[in-house]
Amino acid sequence: MKSAVLEELNLITVQDRPDPVCGDGEAIIEPQSVSVCGSDVRIFRYGNLRVTTPTVIGHEVAGVVTQVGKDVSNLQVGDRIVIGADVPDMESGREYTLKGMGNLCPENYAIGYQLDGAFQQKMKLDDFTVKYGPIVKIPDTLSYDEACIAEPLACAIHGLELAQMSLGKSICVIGLGPIGCMILELSKYFGASKVFAAQRSRKRLDMAREFLPDARFIATEEEDLVETVLKETDGEGVDLVITTAGTTQAQEDAIKIVKKRGYVNLFAGLKNQPPLVIDSNRIHYKECFIMGSHGSTLPDVEKAVQLLAAGKISAKKYISKTFPLSEIQDAFMYHESRAGMKVIVKPQQGE
Ligand SMILES: [Zn+2]
Repeated sequence: MKSAVLEELNLITVQDRPDPVCGDGEAIIEPQSVSVCGSDVRIFRYGNLRVTTPTVIGHEVAGVVTQVGKDVSNLQVGDRIVIGADVPDMESGREYTLKGMGNLCPENYAIGYQLDGAFQQKMKLDDFTVKYGPIVKIPDTLSYDEACIAEPLACAIHGLELAQMSLGKSICVIGLGPIGCMILELSKYFGASKVFAAQRSRKRLDMAREFLPDARFIATEEEDLVETVLKETDGEGVDLVITTAGTTQAQEDAIKIVKKRGYVNLFAGLKNQPPLVIDSNRIHYKECFIMGSHGSTLPDVEKAVQLLAAGKISAKKYISKTFPLSEIQDAFMYHESRAGMKVIVKPQQGE
Protein backbone atom coordinates (compact mmCIF):
# COMPACT_ATOMS: atom_id res chain seq x y z
CA MET A 1 0.00 0.00 0.00
CA LYS A 2 1.02 3.63 -0.42
CA SER A 3 1.67 5.77 2.65
CA ALA A 4 2.60 9.43 2.83
CA VAL A 5 5.37 9.27 5.38
CA LEU A 6 6.46 12.35 7.29
CA GLU A 7 10.17 11.58 7.42
CA GLU A 8 11.40 14.76 9.06
CA LEU A 9 10.37 18.41 9.20
CA ASN A 10 9.32 19.71 5.77
CA LEU A 11 9.64 16.30 4.11
CA ILE A 12 6.82 13.93 3.25
CA THR A 13 7.43 11.11 0.77
CA VAL A 14 4.90 8.67 -0.63
CA GLN A 15 6.25 5.17 -0.09
CA ASP A 16 5.25 1.53 -0.51
CA ARG A 17 4.78 0.03 2.90
CA PRO A 18 3.51 -3.38 4.01
CA ASP A 19 -0.22 -3.58 4.69
CA PRO A 20 -1.07 -3.29 8.38
CA VAL A 21 -1.90 -6.55 10.13
CA CYS A 22 -5.25 -6.61 11.91
CA GLY A 23 -5.12 -7.91 15.48
CA ASP A 24 -8.09 -9.52 17.25
CA GLY A 25 -9.40 -6.31 18.76
CA GLU A 26 -8.39 -4.05 15.87
CA ALA A 27 -9.82 -2.84 12.58
CA ILE A 28 -8.40 -1.67 9.26
CA ILE A 29 -9.99 1.13 7.27
CA GLU A 30 -9.31 2.50 3.83
CA PRO A 31 -9.31 6.30 4.16
CA GLN A 32 -11.25 7.76 1.19
CA SER A 33 -11.15 11.48 1.98
CA VAL A 34 -8.79 13.19 4.42
CA SER A 35 -8.99 16.94 4.81
CA VAL A 36 -5.86 18.85 5.66
CA CYS A 37 -5.96 20.50 9.09
CA GLY A 38 -3.91 23.54 10.04
CA SER A 39 -2.34 21.32 12.69
CA ASP A 40 -1.15 18.82 10.03
CA VAL A 41 0.76 21.60 8.33
CA ARG A 42 2.11 22.83 11.68
CA ILE A 43 3.40 19.32 12.44
CA PHE A 44 4.95 19.22 8.95
CA ARG A 45 6.72 22.56 9.51
CA TYR A 46 7.48 22.61 13.23
CA GLY A 47 6.88 19.10 14.60
CA ASN A 48 4.87 18.28 17.71
CA LEU A 49 5.80 16.75 21.06
CA ARG A 50 3.23 13.98 20.53
CA VAL A 51 4.52 13.09 17.05
CA THR A 52 7.67 11.00 16.44
CA THR A 53 9.02 10.74 12.89
CA PRO A 54 8.96 8.79 10.65
CA THR A 55 5.18 8.59 10.87
CA VAL A 56 1.91 9.04 8.99
CA ILE A 57 -0.21 12.02 10.06
CA GLY A 58 -3.74 13.08 9.07
CA HIS A 59 -6.83 12.91 11.31
CA GLU A 60 -9.79 14.48 9.46
CA VAL A 61 -10.77 11.19 7.89
CA ALA A 62 -13.75 9.50 6.30
CA GLY A 63 -13.28 5.93 5.14
CA VAL A 64 -14.60 2.42 4.90
CA VAL A 65 -13.91 -0.51 7.20
CA THR A 66 -12.21 -3.30 5.25
CA GLN A 67 -11.14 -5.67 8.02
CA VAL A 68 -12.10 -6.33 11.64
CA GLY A 69 -10.48 -8.61 14.21
CA LYS A 70 -12.45 -11.54 15.63
CA ASP A 71 -13.11 -9.76 18.93
CA VAL A 72 -14.63 -6.64 17.34
CA SER A 73 -18.40 -6.43 17.56
CA ASN A 74 -19.16 -2.73 17.05
CA LEU A 75 -17.74 -2.43 13.51
CA GLN A 76 -18.34 -4.43 10.37
CA VAL A 77 -16.58 -4.69 7.04
CA GLY A 78 -18.24 -2.18 4.72
CA ASP A 79 -19.14 0.35 7.44
CA ARG A 80 -18.60 3.90 6.23
CA ILE A 81 -17.20 5.91 9.13
CA VAL A 82 -15.64 9.12 10.38
CA ILE A 83 -13.45 9.38 13.48
CA GLY A 84 -12.94 12.28 15.85
CA ALA A 85 -9.28 13.02 16.47
CA ASP A 86 -9.08 12.65 20.25
CA VAL A 87 -9.11 9.07 21.45
CA PRO A 88 -9.93 8.59 25.14
CA ASP A 89 -7.54 6.48 27.15
CA MET A 90 -9.27 4.22 29.67
CA GLU A 91 -5.97 3.51 31.43
CA SER A 92 -4.35 6.85 32.26
CA GLY A 93 -7.51 8.84 31.61
CA ARG A 94 -10.25 6.66 33.03
CA GLU A 95 -11.79 9.45 35.11
CA TYR A 96 -11.87 11.89 32.16
CA THR A 97 -13.21 9.24 29.80
CA LEU A 98 -16.06 8.27 32.13
CA LYS A 99 -17.01 11.93 32.55
CA GLY A 100 -17.23 12.40 28.78
CA MET A 101 -14.02 14.42 28.65
CA GLY A 102 -12.00 11.98 26.58
CA ASN A 103 -10.30 14.88 24.77
CA LEU A 104 -8.57 15.80 28.05
CA CYS A 105 -6.94 12.48 29.00
CA PRO A 106 -3.39 12.92 30.36
CA GLU A 107 -1.71 11.29 27.35
CA ASN A 108 -4.11 12.98 24.90
CA TYR A 109 -3.89 10.20 22.32
CA ALA A 110 -4.96 11.38 18.89
CA ILE A 111 -5.31 9.97 15.40
CA GLY A 112 -2.36 11.09 13.29
CA TYR A 113 -0.33 12.01 16.40
CA GLN A 114 0.67 8.98 18.52
CA LEU A 115 -1.86 6.82 16.64
CA ASP A 116 -1.72 5.74 13.00
CA GLY A 117 -2.70 8.59 10.66
CA ALA A 118 -4.93 8.73 7.60
CA PHE A 119 -2.71 9.98 4.76
CA GLN A 120 -2.30 6.42 3.47
CA GLN A 121 -4.27 3.71 1.73
CA LYS A 122 -4.83 1.53 4.79
CA MET A 123 -4.98 2.70 8.36
CA LYS A 124 -5.07 0.65 11.50
CA LEU A 125 -7.44 1.42 14.37
CA ASP A 126 -5.92 -0.07 17.51
CA ASP A 127 -8.09 -1.85 20.08
CA PHE A 128 -8.45 1.25 22.28
CA THR A 129 -9.68 3.29 19.34
CA VAL A 130 -12.10 0.56 18.26
CA LYS A 131 -13.51 0.30 21.81
CA TYR A 132 -13.50 3.88 23.03
CA GLY A 133 -12.65 6.04 20.03
CA PRO A 134 -15.07 8.64 18.64
CA ILE A 135 -16.04 6.48 15.64
CA VAL A 136 -19.33 7.43 13.98
CA LYS A 137 -21.01 5.63 11.09
CA ILE A 138 -22.14 7.83 8.24
CA PRO A 139 -25.22 7.38 6.05
CA ASP A 140 -24.87 6.36 2.38
CA THR A 141 -26.26 9.74 1.35
CA LEU A 142 -23.22 11.55 2.73
CA SER A 143 -20.14 11.53 0.50
CA TYR A 144 -16.72 10.86 1.97
CA ASP A 145 -15.58 14.34 0.91
CA GLU A 146 -18.42 15.96 2.83
CA ALA A 147 -18.08 13.60 5.79
CA CYS A 148 -14.39 14.18 6.48
CA ILE A 149 -15.06 17.72 7.66
CA ALA A 150 -17.04 16.21 10.56
CA GLU A 151 -13.87 16.32 12.68
CA PRO A 152 -13.26 20.11 12.49
CA LEU A 153 -17.02 20.69 12.65
CA ALA A 154 -17.12 18.66 15.87
CA CYS A 155 -14.41 20.93 17.33
CA ALA A 156 -16.48 24.00 16.41
CA ILE A 157 -19.59 22.51 18.06
CA HIS A 158 -17.52 21.62 21.13
CA GLY A 159 -16.19 25.19 21.37
CA LEU A 160 -19.64 26.78 21.14
CA GLU A 161 -21.29 24.45 23.64
CA LEU A 162 -18.46 24.65 26.16
CA ALA A 163 -18.70 28.46 25.96
CA GLN A 164 -22.41 28.28 26.84
CA MET A 165 -23.64 29.64 23.51
CA SER A 166 -27.43 29.78 23.53
CA LEU A 167 -30.52 31.40 22.03
CA GLY A 168 -30.43 35.16 21.70
CA LYS A 169 -26.77 35.72 22.52
CA SER A 170 -24.49 37.88 20.42
CA ILE A 171 -21.19 36.51 19.19
CA CYS A 172 -17.97 37.68 17.57
CA VAL A 173 -15.74 35.24 15.67
CA ILE A 174 -12.15 36.44 15.18
CA GLY A 175 -10.48 34.54 12.32
CA LEU A 176 -12.44 33.29 9.32
CA GLY A 177 -10.65 30.16 8.21
CA PRO A 178 -12.74 26.99 7.81
CA ILE A 179 -13.37 26.66 11.57
CA GLY A 180 -14.37 30.32 11.88
CA CYS A 181 -16.80 29.88 9.00
CA MET A 182 -18.23 26.73 10.58
CA ILE A 183 -18.82 28.71 13.77
CA LEU A 184 -20.60 31.36 11.70
CA GLU A 185 -22.90 28.74 10.19
CA LEU A 186 -23.49 27.06 13.54
CA SER A 187 -24.26 30.34 15.28
CA LYS A 188 -27.53 30.62 13.40
CA TYR A 189 -28.64 27.23 14.79
CA PHE A 190 -27.71 28.43 18.27
CA GLY A 191 -30.04 31.38 17.68
CA ALA A 192 -27.42 34.13 17.74
CA SER A 193 -29.05 37.56 17.82
CA LYS A 194 -26.08 39.36 16.28
CA VAL A 195 -22.93 37.97 14.70
CA PHE A 196 -19.69 39.88 14.14
CA ALA A 197 -17.13 38.17 11.91
CA ALA A 198 -13.61 39.56 11.87
CA GLN A 199 -10.66 38.78 9.66
CA ARG A 200 -7.53 40.76 8.89
CA SER A 201 -7.56 40.64 5.11
CA ARG A 202 -10.48 41.71 2.94
CA LYS A 203 -9.83 38.85 0.48
CA ARG A 204 -10.28 36.12 3.06
CA LEU A 205 -13.20 37.94 4.58
CA ASP A 206 -15.00 38.01 1.24
CA MET A 207 -14.63 34.21 0.99
CA ALA A 208 -16.36 33.87 4.35
CA ARG A 209 -19.42 35.96 3.44
CA GLU A 210 -21.32 33.12 1.82
CA PHE A 211 -21.43 31.18 5.08
CA LEU A 212 -23.54 33.78 6.88
CA PRO A 213 -24.34 36.71 4.58
CA ASP A 214 -26.13 38.78 7.22
CA ALA A 215 -23.24 38.77 9.71
CA ARG A 216 -21.43 42.07 10.33
CA PHE A 217 -18.08 41.48 8.61
CA ILE A 218 -15.05 43.48 9.76
CA ALA A 219 -11.78 43.54 7.81
CA THR A 220 -9.43 44.49 10.63
CA GLU A 221 -6.76 45.88 8.29
CA GLU A 222 -9.30 48.58 7.37
CA GLU A 223 -11.55 48.89 10.38
CA ASP A 224 -10.72 48.76 14.09
CA LEU A 225 -12.32 45.64 15.56
CA VAL A 226 -12.62 46.79 19.17
CA GLU A 227 -13.97 50.22 18.26
CA THR A 228 -16.50 48.85 15.78
CA VAL A 229 -17.91 46.14 18.02
CA LEU A 230 -18.18 48.46 21.01
CA LYS A 231 -19.79 51.21 18.93
CA GLU A 232 -22.35 48.85 17.43
CA THR A 233 -23.27 47.28 20.77
CA ASP A 234 -23.69 50.57 22.64
CA GLY A 235 -20.42 50.03 24.42
CA GLU A 236 -21.57 46.71 25.89
CA GLY A 237 -19.67 44.19 23.77
CA VAL A 238 -20.85 40.70 22.85
CA ASP A 239 -21.89 37.68 24.90
CA LEU A 240 -19.34 35.38 23.34
CA VAL A 241 -16.04 35.97 21.54
CA ILE A 242 -14.28 33.02 19.90
CA THR A 243 -10.71 33.44 18.64
CA THR A 244 -9.95 31.00 15.84
CA ALA A 245 -7.00 33.14 14.74
CA GLY A 246 -3.93 32.03 16.69
CA THR A 247 -2.60 35.47 17.51
CA THR A 248 -2.07 37.26 20.80
CA GLN A 249 -3.69 40.33 19.26
CA ALA A 250 -6.94 38.40 18.66
CA GLN A 251 -6.96 37.28 22.29
CA GLU A 252 -6.33 40.80 23.58
CA ASP A 253 -9.12 42.20 21.43
CA ALA A 254 -11.48 39.44 22.53
CA ILE A 255 -11.13 40.41 26.19
CA LYS A 256 -11.80 44.04 25.33
CA ILE A 257 -15.06 43.32 23.47
CA VAL A 258 -16.63 40.67 25.68
CA LYS A 259 -19.75 41.78 27.50
CA LYS A 260 -20.20 41.64 31.26
CA ARG A 261 -20.72 38.00 32.34
CA GLY A 262 -19.78 37.05 28.78
CA TYR A 263 -17.44 34.30 27.59
CA VAL A 264 -14.17 34.42 25.69
CA ASN A 265 -13.19 31.10 24.13
CA LEU A 266 -9.49 31.03 23.23
CA PHE A 267 -10.13 28.38 20.59
CA ALA A 268 -6.91 28.58 18.57
CA GLY A 269 -3.63 27.85 20.27
CA LEU A 270 -0.70 30.25 19.92
CA LYS A 271 2.46 29.36 18.03
CA ASN A 272 5.45 31.70 17.82
CA GLN A 273 3.44 34.48 19.44
CA PRO A 274 4.18 36.57 22.52
CA PRO A 275 2.26 35.40 25.59
CA LEU A 276 -1.00 37.15 26.39
CA VAL A 277 -0.73 39.83 29.08
CA ILE A 278 -4.12 40.45 30.66
CA ASP A 279 -5.35 43.50 32.48
CA SER A 280 -7.10 41.31 35.03
CA ASN A 281 -9.29 44.16 36.19
CA ARG A 282 -11.20 43.77 32.94
CA ILE A 283 -12.10 40.25 34.02
CA HIS A 284 -12.71 41.26 37.61
CA TYR A 285 -15.09 44.11 36.90
CA LYS A 286 -16.86 42.48 33.98
CA GLU A 287 -17.30 39.13 35.76
CA CYS A 288 -16.44 37.57 32.42
CA PHE A 289 -15.23 34.03 31.75
CA ILE A 290 -12.00 33.43 29.85
CA MET A 291 -11.79 29.79 28.77
CA GLY A 292 -10.43 27.56 26.06
CA SER A 293 -11.56 24.57 24.09
CA HIS A 294 -9.52 21.87 22.49
CA GLY A 295 -10.58 19.03 20.19
CA SER A 296 -13.87 17.25 20.56
CA THR A 297 -15.63 14.26 22.08
CA LEU A 298 -17.85 11.49 20.69
CA PRO A 299 -21.16 13.37 21.14
CA ASP A 300 -19.69 16.35 19.24
CA VAL A 301 -18.72 14.09 16.32
CA GLU A 302 -22.20 12.52 16.34
CA LYS A 303 -23.81 15.95 16.16
CA ALA A 304 -21.47 16.99 13.38
CA VAL A 305 -22.43 13.94 11.31
CA GLN A 306 -26.14 14.54 11.94
CA LEU A 307 -25.88 18.18 10.81
CA LEU A 308 -23.90 17.22 7.71
CA ALA A 309 -26.29 14.37 6.84
CA ALA A 310 -29.27 16.71 7.23
CA GLY A 311 -27.67 19.25 4.89
CA LYS A 312 -27.65 21.91 7.63
CA ILE A 313 -23.96 22.67 7.09
CA SER A 314 -22.99 23.43 3.53
CA ALA A 315 -20.12 20.93 3.44
CA LYS A 316 -19.42 21.30 -0.26
CA LYS A 317 -18.71 25.02 0.12
CA TYR A 318 -15.75 24.22 2.37
CA ILE A 319 -14.05 21.97 -0.15
CA SER A 320 -11.81 24.12 -2.33
CA LYS A 321 -9.61 21.50 -3.95
CA THR A 322 -8.78 17.79 -3.85
CA PHE A 323 -5.38 16.18 -4.41
CA PRO A 324 -4.33 12.54 -4.95
CA LEU A 325 -2.07 11.08 -2.24
CA SER A 326 0.96 11.39 -4.56
CA GLU A 327 0.57 15.20 -4.47
CA ILE A 328 0.20 15.56 -0.71
CA GLN A 329 3.00 18.13 -0.42
CA ASP A 330 1.20 20.27 -3.01
CA ALA A 331 -1.96 19.93 -0.93
CA PHE A 332 -0.05 21.27 2.09
CA MET A 333 1.34 24.19 0.03
CA TYR A 334 -2.15 24.98 -1.22
CA HIS A 335 -3.36 25.04 2.37
CA GLU A 336 -0.53 27.38 3.33
CA SER A 337 -1.28 29.72 0.43
CA ARG A 338 -4.65 30.42 2.10
CA ALA A 339 -6.19 30.56 -1.38
CA GLY A 340 -9.18 28.47 -0.34
CA MET A 341 -10.95 26.76 2.55
CA LYS A 342 -10.47 23.01 2.97
CA VAL A 343 -8.09 20.86 0.92
CA ILE A 344 -8.83 17.16 0.66
CA VAL A 345 -6.30 14.40 0.03
CA LYS A 346 -7.62 11.23 -1.64
CA PRO A 347 -5.43 8.33 -0.43
CA GLN A 348 -6.93 5.82 -2.88
CA GLN A 349 -6.04 8.02 -5.86
CA GLY A 350 -2.66 8.64 -7.46
CA GLU A 351 -0.48 5.58 -7.73
ZN1 LIG B 1 -8.27 18.93 12.55
